[in-house]
Amino acid sequence: MKTLILGAGYAGLAVATKLKPTPGLDVTLVEQNPYHVFETRLHEAAAHNTQVTLPLQPLLKGTGVQMDLARIDSVDLDARQVALKDGRTLSYDTLVIGLGSVTNFYRIPGLAEHATELKELADADEIFTFINRVFETSYVGNRNIVVGGAGLTGVELVTELAQRNEILSRERGLPKVEIYLVEAGPKILPVLDDNLRERATRTLTEYGIHILVQHRLMQASEDSVTVQTADGQQKVIEAGKIIWTGGIQAQEIVKAEKLEKGPANRIVVDEYLRIPAYPEVFVIGDMALATDPKTQKPVPTTAQHAGQQGRLTGKNIMRLARGGELETYEPSTLGEFVSLGGLMAVGWMKLPWNQKLAMTGGMAHVMKRASEWRWRASIGDPI
Ligand SMILES: Cc1cc2nc3c(=O)[nH]c(=O)nc-3n(C[C@H](O)[C@H](O)[C@H](O)COP(=O)(O)OP(=O)(O)OC[C@H]3O[C@@H](n4cnc5c(N)ncnc54)[C@H](O)[C@@H]3O)c2cc1C
Repeated sequence: MKTLILGAGYAGLAVATKLKPTPGLDVTLVEQNPYHVFETRLHEAAAHNTQVTLPLQPLLKGTGVQMDLARIDSVDLDARQVALKDGRTLSYDTLVIGLGSVTNFYRIPGLAEHATELKELADADEIFTFINRVFETSYVGNRNIVVGGAGLTGVELVTELAQRNEILSRERGLPKVEIYLVEAGPKILPVLDDNLRERATRTLTEYGIHILVQHRLMQASEDSVTVQTADGQQKVIEAGKIIWTGGIQAQEIVKAEKLEKGPANRIVVDEYLRIPAYPEVFVIGDMALATDPKTQKPVPTTAQHAGQQGRLTGKNIMRLARGGELETYEPSTLGEFVSLGGLMAVGWMKLPWNQKLAMTGGMAHVMKRASEWRWRASIGDPI
């Protein structure tokens, strides 16, 4: 059974590291980078240049999976072919697609041209370079940082940048940079309960971050953004660096006649995470639109769920290779933690009988770190 796994993110890498050498099973992992990126820690790389990658090859030892370092151009499900940018074409019997998401700029004028994203290592490097450069005495220009989108990524990024801001200001004896967090909706971190959001808001305010909720980003230029308040007034905020974390959408890389897509281009999958009209194709992670059978709601796009989907798909590929039955997908949200810079975090952990245990401060920080250690252990990283 010739099997291709596309992407070595949380979803694809979880599949590959679940596999074992098996007669008749021939698996290749196709990925553009020779390393796995801990995307959930990109904000740390952006502020502190933290190491957030892990070489892939050692993680594949003992799995029987071959690695093909290549950039995928397109996937044709009707022809059962994957076209690579280097001109090669790969065919398959079974395909696993886990290529993640790209930033959604919602066609806001000027945003795609002038904003930095936070999706790849290169984005983190660009932000790190900026925050350091504005603390050089030779720097000329606006020093403000404007971050659009107050979800998990935006909040984690501004708090980490605020910490770096304090360190550099103290070290260099220069005034701190102004950091703005701009959000169209009425609150930051909409996924959290009110008590945790209030704690997070207090922390951001203590850092001196300007929180602008109900401010819709209308336009971006090279050195400013225009925002509109709920009562229709427009304001211009000058910016040396604009960063957009306000939305994602699935990659538009798969071509097929009978493909059903949901909001944000996510590909609709069945209870086994396969495309109903193409049962030889599994789609997992941010690209997939799976439905939670208990709530009938879409499964969120998180690393936690991508990893769960990947581990299940790995098991199911082993079952297919051995002629067994597939196992159905039952998502489980074990908790949600948001880091707020340094040792501060807020979040909750799932308890029996669907109860939630809310946590703030050091304990929440440890829980956030623990989920990362669990992930690393699950992919066989000795840490
Ligand atoms: C800053 C930040 C913080 C986050 N924090 C959290 C958190 O605390 N908790 C949480 O649960 N989630 C968090 N998320 C979301 C989480 O990172 C994503 O949901 C998760 O990465 C999705 O996993 P995936 O495997 O679908 O995609 P990814 O992890 O993005 O992996 C996709 C892989 O495909 C490869 N790829 C893409 N296109 C191509 C191509 N054309 N050719 C070859 N290879 C390709 C990429 O290089 C990558 O390795 C955060 C995201 C960000 C950006």
